Amino acid sequence: MLYLTPPEDLAQVIQGEPEYRVGQIREWLYDHPTLTVDEWTNVPRRLRARLEGQLWPFEVEIEQTADRGATVKWLFRTPDNISIESVLMGYKNRVTLCVSSQAGCAMGCTFCATGQFGFDRHLKAGEIVAQVAYAQAFVRAGGLSRGPKRVSNVVFMGMGEPLANYPRMRESLRLMIEVMGISARSITVSTVGHVPGMRRLADEPWQVGLAVSLHAADDTLRSSLIPLNDRYPLAEVEAAAAEYFAKKGRRVSIEWTMMDGVNDGLDQAEGLAQIARRLKAHVNLIALNPTPLSVDKPSTKRAISKFMELLEGKGITATLRDTRGQDIDAACGQLRVRAGS
Ligand code: SAH
Ligand code: SF4
Repeated sequence: MLYLTPPEDLAQVIQGEPEYRVGQIREWLYDHPTLTVDEWTNVPRRLRARLEGQLWPFEVEIEQTADRGATVKWLFRTPDNISIESVLMGYKNRVTLCVSSQAGCAMGCTFCATGQFGFDRHLKAGEIVAQVAYAQAFVRAGGLSRGPKRVSNVVFMGMGEPLANYPRMRESLRLMIEVMGISARSITVSTVGHVPGMRRLADEPWQVGLAVSLHAADDTLRSSLIPLNDRYPLAEVEAAAAEYFAKKGRRVSIEWTMMDGVNDGLDQAEGLAQIARRLKAHVNLIALNPTPLSVDKPSTKRAISKFMELLEGKGITATLRDTRGQDIDAACGQLRVRAGS
């Protein structure tokens, strides 16, 4: 499988070919990916035939579009029967891909479909990068109705906790930044608050963005939603976020999934405002996407606007994440649920 081999070792998979040929293939894979090897016009037909089944480390099981072709969601299936989900969103000036870093997730957050279905396995670096390359090929082929013709931004907000899969996630970052040429500043790693991972990421040479999923401003509530909070309580998560900001000079963002009557009260908004002020963080509110195994409901519009008003009144910038692709369940872990696997 071509993407499962580090680009530096490609010669081993394409044995017997001259060095310049390996270089050409590397360019096709990482500089201008294509959906099929047929488009590799400078590569002889016999070699293309040999590599045909080795291009993608997965098959496309489901491809769904929404928002008049500006949102596309894929469910990829690996040979060992693991599902990988990615969502592509085209905006006027950017194209953002949401990637998965694990098949399933072991963190067990109560409100998250991925967490409810447990953990299958870590994704390999090549499986993470192949999601980006596939989307890049799709966009280059004119598949997306909105935005520039390249994937400009990557967010680790699909299935899995990226910092719990550190070495592979790190290698995928290296490939995206140093081999594919995606700007580190356009990549955001989202974490549920995996403190050791946040510290390691702060020491990496890249200016990637960090989003911290807080969802609650006190430990009792947070532990009831996020089991990992027992291991890394709020104060430690905040300290690691502050360290990230100090080392990178990049503000972190705080994610807050709004659940009716759970974490949308003004006392929580007050607590969040204090944390956000200390971290100089931007707040991203997300209305809960209901999941089959939880009774939680999204906050009402009124609760969300009062919550935002309080934050803004305290000088905190907050945005409500747009609900892209709702009709195709283009949210964390949702497609997997519908596919029933
Ligand atoms: N594991 C990482 C990244 C993947 S989840 C993390 O938790 O940050 C990406 C984002 O989707 C997180 O902010 C998560 O809290 C949010 N999310 C999970 N389930 C959701 C749901 N049912 N509705 C809305 N947002 C959800
Ligand atoms: Fe895992 Fe993130 Fe879902 Fe929690 S919210 S279960 S960490 S994917």
